[in-house]
Amino acid sequence: MPTREQFVEAEATVGRYRKEIGDRCKVFFVVPDYYETRPKRCMNGWGQVFLGIAPDGAALPCHTARSLPGLEFSNVIDTPIKDIWYESDAFNRFRGFGWMKEPCRSCDEKTIDLGGCRCQAYLFTQDSANADPVCSKSPHHERVIEAACVKKLFSCGARSMRVRAVMSPRQARRMCWSKRCVRWRVAFPI
Ligand code: SF4
Repeated sequence: MPTREQFVEAEATVGRYRKEIGDRCKVFFVVPDYYETRPKRCMNGWGQVFLGIAPDGAALPCHTARSLPGLEFSNVIDTPIKDIWYESDAFNRFRGFGWMKEPCRSCDEKTIDLGGCRCQAYLFTQDSANADPVCSKSPHHERVIEAACVKKLFSCGARSMRVRAVMSPRQARRMCWSKRCVRWRVAFPI
């Protein structure tokens, strides 16, 4: 998982490239949200504005939608796009709020983020109808913290020093704390 510093560097690279190519092409850059406490409104909402067509003709509500089990995607070769957009199960599956589970279902922020990313929810929790675990209200939020923390600790060196027994757990915790990483409890539990 990229560190926060790598995000910043990637963003700067995209910015430079956008300037270079001007209006010839629009470069989309989605900033990862592992270090946030609320998820993004992924794809601006499933089946709201985006329809991608894969090289084999499959119409997708999101470019990674094929990573989700239990969805069949209609093909533009034999199905009109209007029917795919309005009638297909894949495009309707996560529209509205009826598919949501708790805590999203009764959350007063659900109109803002629509529960976040379905693919991220599935990859972290094995259930695509769960809240995106980037959200601090998700019961699975610790998994995101842990993944981000381990990477961050590798990059700052505390973890490797700890593994080589160069520092005690207490020293490692102090180092994480000094770097303002409040996630040390996950990596170095007492
Ligand atoms: S619980 Fe669900 S709807 Fe509420 S903020 Fe978190 S992800 Fe968004």
